[in-house]
Amino acid sequence: MTQAQRDGLTGQKGCTVWFTGLSASGKSTLACALELALLEQGKRAFRLDGDNVRFGLNKDLGFSPADRTENIRRVGEVAKLVASSSTATLTAFISPYLADRQLAREIHDAAGIRFVEVFVDASLASVEARDPKGLYKKARAGVIKGQSIPTPARQGIGWEVVVDGFDFLSPEFTGISAPYEAPLNAEVHVKTDECDIPQGVQVIIDYLTKENLI
Ligand code: ADP
Repeated sequence: MTQAQRDGLTGQKGCTVWFTGLSASGKSTLACALELALLEQGKRAFRLDGDNVRFGLNKDLGFSPADRTENIRRVGEVAKLVASSSTATLTAFISPYLADRQLAREIHDAAGIRFVEVFVDASLASVEARDPKGLYKKARAGVIKGQSIPTPARQGIGWEVVVDGFDFLSPEFTGISAPYEAPLNAEVHVKTDECDIPQGVQVIIDYLTKENLI
């Protein structure tokens, strides 16, 4: 089967909608709401996030720069495969490095699958104020104290953080002690400081509709 045959027979073009942004910027919230909206419209949609990737496929990876890169490479490959089934594939990962997102894009380009980068943009002040999982508070505490909380759970040094709903030990926290490289030319830019959740979802749906991807 060619991609065109699959898309023709299913009546939907596969694509990957790649959400990127700081922790608590709203990636998961928007991806969940978009997934629901698409499914309710009878479209095929599937979400990849920390819950179903970080502790399965990528459970061997931590949060060092090298592991973050490998995490994103694998997510890119899996997203491409799922999107190849003529499904709108939604990925919600911080994915802080430009080069890693570029690699994910190239994986899709090589397969002829559209890659739609959505920059979920909120200021650091705003995400720190939201801080729904208390991560920024912990990260700041770690930075300020300059010490780690040793635990027997994992070898190595770090402070305990909860990322995407799970406990990890990591000395890296994006926005505080590790960089976030904002997209330069994302297909969609959602400023979650300035719009509510339905408005954010609508901006993405409008783009996917305009591009004939749903
Ligand atoms: P991330 O997946 O980027 O870490 P989450 O979606 O888990 O972020 O959390 C974002 C938090 O911000 C949620 O508590 C959500 O309700 C809140 N929020 C406030 N305004 C918005 C908005 N306009 N869009 C998305 N989330 C928002």
